[in-house]
Amino acid sequence: MSRIRGADTRPESRLRKELWKRGLRYRVSPRLTFGKPDLALPGPRIAIFIDGCFWHGCPDHYYPPKTRAAFWAKKLKDNVERDRRQLVTAEQSGWRVLRVWEHDIREDPAEAAERLLGLIASGATADHWHVYAVAPGPDGAPRERRIVELRGGSERTSSDSPRPAPASQRLA
Ligand SMILES: [Zn+2]
Repeated sequence: MSRIRGADTRPESRLRKELWKRGLRYRVSPRLTFGKPDLALPGPRIAIFIDGCFWHGCPDHYYPPKTRAAFWAKKLKDNVERDRRQLVTAEQSGWRVLRVWEHDIREDPAEAAERLLGLIASGATADHWHVYAVAPGPDGAPRERRIVELRGGSERTSSDSPRPAPASQRLA
């Protein structure tokens, strides 16, 4: 079953539409030496990744599933490690990597597009902080998140008070 006819509301499509409207021309999911970014500008060598809050460890929204905890903990770590490798390899081969969180697109796709265009124009390189481990408290709620900056490898931790998993968190 493919998508139902109508507006494509996936974050990738929404961001693409906003960027296109603003005159940006890009390639979609090209296979490059370091991986497959969601969008790429081959001329200026800019790779854009759209990161799902769950799969890529969003510092604001990652919430570990209660079941199969060990499996998901390893999955998160593997994903963040792959993101880090990709970023380093891309930069070594002269590409600039920009990453956009899915939640920014869901909240305001126009603003997410504007921010991205600002980064593209300025030549800036943004930090990319990702959760890579979560220590559960006695009640199973996350107590402490370990967060790593993909490029520099610097780390920080943040402690949370228990809160319910956001309803918007989806596994797919
Ligand atoms: Zn998020």
